[in-house]
Amino acid sequence: MHQIHHFLNGSIVEGRSERYAPVFNPATGEQSAQVALATADETRDAVRIANDAFASWSKISPLKRSRILFKFKTLVEAHTDELAAMISREHGKVFSDAKGEVTRGLEVVEFACGIPHLQKGEHSMNVGTGVDSYSMMQPLGVCAGISPFNFPAMVPMWMFPIALACGNTFIMKPSEKDPSTPMRLAELLKEAGLPDGIFNVVNGDKESVDVLLTDERVQAVSFVGSTPIAEYIYATASAHGKRVQALGGAKNHMVIMPDADLDQAVDALMGAAYGSAGERCMAISVAVPVGEETAERLREKLIARLETLRVGPGLVDGPDNDMGPLVTKEHLEKVKGYIATGVEEGAELVVDGRETTIEGAGNGYFVGGSLFDHVTPGMRIHTEEIFGPVLAITRAASFDSAVAMINDHEFGNGTAIFTRDGDAARQFCEQIQVGMVGVNVPIPVPMAFHSFGGWKRSLFGPLHMHGPDGVRFNTRMKTITQRWPSGIREETNHFTMPTL
Ligand code: NAD
Repeated sequence: MHQIHHFLNGSIVEGRSERYAPVFNPATGEQSAQVALATADETRDAVRIANDAFASWSKISPLKRSRILFKFKTLVEAHTDELAAMISREHGKVFSDAKGEVTRGLEVVEFACGIPHLQKGEHSMNVGTGVDSYSMMQPLGVCAGISPFNFPAMVPMWMFPIALACGNTFIMKPSEKDPSTPMRLAELLKEAGLPDGIFNVVNGDKESVDVLLTDERVQAVSFVGSTPIAEYIYATASAHGKRVQALGGAKNHMVIMPDADLDQAVDALMGAAYGSAGERCMAISVAVPVGEETAERLREKLIARLETLRVGPGLVDGPDNDMGPLVTKEHLEKVKGYIATGVEEGAELVVDGRETTIEGAGNGYFVGGSLFDHVTPGMRIHTEEIFGPVLAITRAASFDSAVAMINDHEFGNGTAIFTRDGDAARQFCEQIQVGMVGVNVPIPVPMAFHSFGGWKRSLFGPLHMHGPDGVRFNTRMKTITQRWPSGIREETNHFTMPTL
């Protein structure tokens, strides 16, 4: 059995715990590897290594750090197909989608390459007579990243490139469901010239995560995953004095106004609801047509399109499928359970993905795309995140009731409106209580030079991921106010608050 261990101090290090988690190929249902789960002591070793490496790395010129990232970028580009195949084998998403994930991650590397500019700080002359003031954005120390299964390349790359560029050292704790890609990224970082100990990968579960949340040498924790764990990470790491950004779950609505180009909206919905088998935090899982006529037309078009959805393995010799299997057997059962719940709750199951015949499915964790109509707020299939290829139509009588429904929801990660009316779009952007909003764009994932994050229970902590917030999160500001001795020409009063 292929074993996946840890990457510490520049080398692969065998796990000592004798605890392992199985890694499956979701397209076949076969176990492909087992991943070592680190003990608390092994995790503390990683913290010590990263802490020792900080002193030299933090003093290196940002330009030199950025040149290593430039090299890393070209290496990841050269290995994109290899990485995408690795993602597809352990996650299940189709090859083209996996390549897209690598590209979106690389964009953060490109952003981080601009660190000499991004980390410049500010300067003001003569804030008082003969007094200048400037700020430095200094690295924090050891930073930790804990990532989910659904983007094994992109989410780690949301985190470590900026942390490293800013002069921090890093410990990555990937999802135990698909750990191979972050391990390969660690090797590519080394090949790009990153000194040993700066980037480490610890594979594990709660035991190792708890060390990262509580060890006093860890300064900052970035987390992406489900809301209950995000909340736990935020509460625990904050209580131990760390800065935390913890991104959680989602239930993203797309409003379709009566004047929308319906073909365009349906095209967008198909990709946004069923792409990556719905296992995206920015997937659209609720379509909100405004008005009965819009709802009827939308429903008919979606039914027709679902008949052409190509479901199958992520790695095929011929043309790519539209979506692959779910990540594990347990998750497949959970998604099927939600479909059953929706029926029990009285929603109309218009297309039942459990009945889809999938060629070459074997023992893979496949389910076809499902469509519910007449889903209402309060039903579990509207309230909870399913994280599968299940789209709900929740009809709204008006623009205002659509906005109210979204604002009342516990999650606030992403949303979109499809309309030709600039005023409706503008009102939507202003009123909606959601962190990332698309106007005629179904999955409004901000580019790397903007920041990514939701509102409400989709994000714990004040700072979003990557972009300008990523630089703020990974640096500590220090402001220096200086006056040189030759400037003190007259006696000054030291007892009152300094003013101009
Ligand atoms: P998860 O919360 O189960 O796991 C995420 C990470 O936390 C993994 O590394 C896991 O090992 C670790 N973990 C799990 N249980 C833990 C515990 N009790 N204590 C400490 N650590 C623990 O999430 P997942 O199933 O891997 O990913 C899917 C979830 O991630 C979905 O809810 C999805 O919406 C969310 N997600 C959110 C975003 C976003 O940007 N908001 C992006 C991607 C995924």
